[in-house]
Amino acid sequence: MDYKKLANLLYPNTDKNISYYLKNAKKRNLNKGAEVTRIAPSPTGFLHVGTVYGALIDYFVAKNSGGVYYMRLEDTDNKREVQDAGEIAYSMLSYYNVKPDEGYRGNQPEIGNFGPYVQSKRIPIYNAFAKHLVECGRAFPCFCEKSETKQDILDRREEQLEQSDDIEAKDPCRNMTYEEIEKRIKNGEKFALRLLSNGNPEKTFEFEDLIKGKRVLRENAKDIVLIKSNGIPVYSMAHLVDDTLMGTTIVVRGEEWYPSLPAHLELFDACSLPRLKYAHTPVICKTDADGNKRKLSKRKDPEADARYFIEKGYPKVTVIEYLLNLLNSDFEIWRNNNPLVDYHNFDFKLSKIGSNNPMFDFDKLDNVSKNIISYYPAQKVYDEALNWAKEYDKEWATVLETNKDKALALFGVERGTERPRKDIIRFDMVKDLYSYMFNETLFKQSLLGFNPALDKKVVKNFLLAYKNSYNLSGENADWFTGVKETAGKCGFCTDNKEYKANPNAYNGNTATACGILRVALTGREQTPDLFSLLKILGKKEIDSRLDYVINNL
Ligand code: GLU
Repeated sequence: MDYKKLANLLYPNTDKNISYYLKNAKKRNLNKGAEVTRIAPSPTGFLHVGTVYGALIDYFVAKNSGGVYYMRLEDTDNKREVQDAGEIAYSMLSYYNVKPDEGYRGNQPEIGNFGPYVQSKRIPIYNAFAKHLVECGRAFPCFCEKSETKQDILDRREEQLEQSDDIEAKDPCRNMTYEEIEKRIKNGEKFALRLLSNGNPEKTFEFEDLIKGKRVLRENAKDIVLIKSNGIPVYSMAHLVDDTLMGTTIVVRGEEWYPSLPAHLELFDACSLPRLKYAHTPVICKTDADGNKRKLSKRKDPEADARYFIEKGYPKVTVIEYLLNLLNSDFEIWRNNNPLVDYHNFDFKLSKIGSNNPMFDFDKLDNVSKNIISYYPAQKVYDEALNWAKEYDKEWATVLETNKDKALALFGVERGTERPRKDIIRFDMVKDLYSYMFNETLFKQSLLGFNPALDKKVVKNFLLAYKNSYNLSGENADWFTGVKETAGKCGFCTDNKEYKANPNAYNGNTATACGILRVALTGREQTPDLFSLLKILGKKEIDSRLDYVINNL
């Protein structure tokens, strides 16, 4: 077969050849050892949290080696394409602090010397590589129609075998003559381009993946599709061309691509292009209702959407650090030893990524989150709670804005201490946790469940006595002594004299007294330090709340 002639027949309008693109490809001026990584999402829906996880690897590998991390939009599947998904992907990556240095940037013009970074704009380039493969006798046109079933194709092949028995056990179109091909092209028939595989699946070879380590793989024997019949390349082909011309040094991609690796390597060899380094990342999984482990799914799991965590009010750092935990298991120890250090200082390493698929675990995520928030200064808690509320609960945002000082004082309680309070996990919880502090309606709502275990008369009596005697001007301990005394006087202890002689014997009862006060003044059984809250509420508010409870008991 005259492959050059065939190449011209298949790609008559492709004038620039592969050498043109290879020669004109820009070089990056980077130091030795600098790695070039890329994130290459397909705009087929919202950005999967797994893409943020992959982007973190790209980001750290590039940053730690003084390299570049860029973004490419892989929009070759126009049937599954979703409008605006590219912009959402870029803005989500930027939001989660893994903003690419170069490449596609959503609505803004792309930056960098290696564009276009959107695959649909690179069709002539792919065609040049496709033509080259045909010229080398390493690709052939396949006229099997999409509408043909596998059985149709097998039947047709059976027929061809009857006519001639030298058809190899490969794609049925691989042995067509030039004349047959020419006839079909002249007929206007569309073709897909397939790799003409030389591989022998009986043979194995060794390959070192940067995450999986050294593995033995079988040679590829599949005549994989490179360009679909609509002229658009599939991933395998586009990845070869783009990662070569854009100067990628490490392809970090999901484990789901690992089975295709032998085909991809064969493709690089067929083009006589140097192979790249690969790091196949484990994929985030979860256990479904039947107890089976499966990939976190865009269709089934709301938490697969990177936006989900924003809506729920998780700080973005929570998500980043949770993912870092999944990637480098020593992150947690590092974080515990360095609670206040920025996560960028963590020694992230590709070699520390395990090869098992991690499980998405909300308990763990929540744990990471409450630790992170517990170290925030009050102002940051306020800002983030307000930002969340402005977007998702306007009424609550107004409450926070009009009571800024009170909110700041409240968020400051038990914060900045050695063992800070860890009650906030997400910012959507703040209203539920603290609304009672802000206005009467919210306070009254929180009192709906007030049902003290003690006799109502005793409680009423105690609250009245407390109202007439309490003093917040001293220290917490002084106030507490006062509460104990009032409780003693109100019959929480059998005898006040007995209480005075041995106050410790009445701890249980005074705890009950404080519990009653807590519920009466906040509507909650658990709150931050009550004395601090009372000081924030102030006498007027406390008295009005006590009156309300006393009158409604
Ligand atoms: N577009 C591919 C995907 O979304 C990218 C894979 C890769 O990073 O090479 O799976």
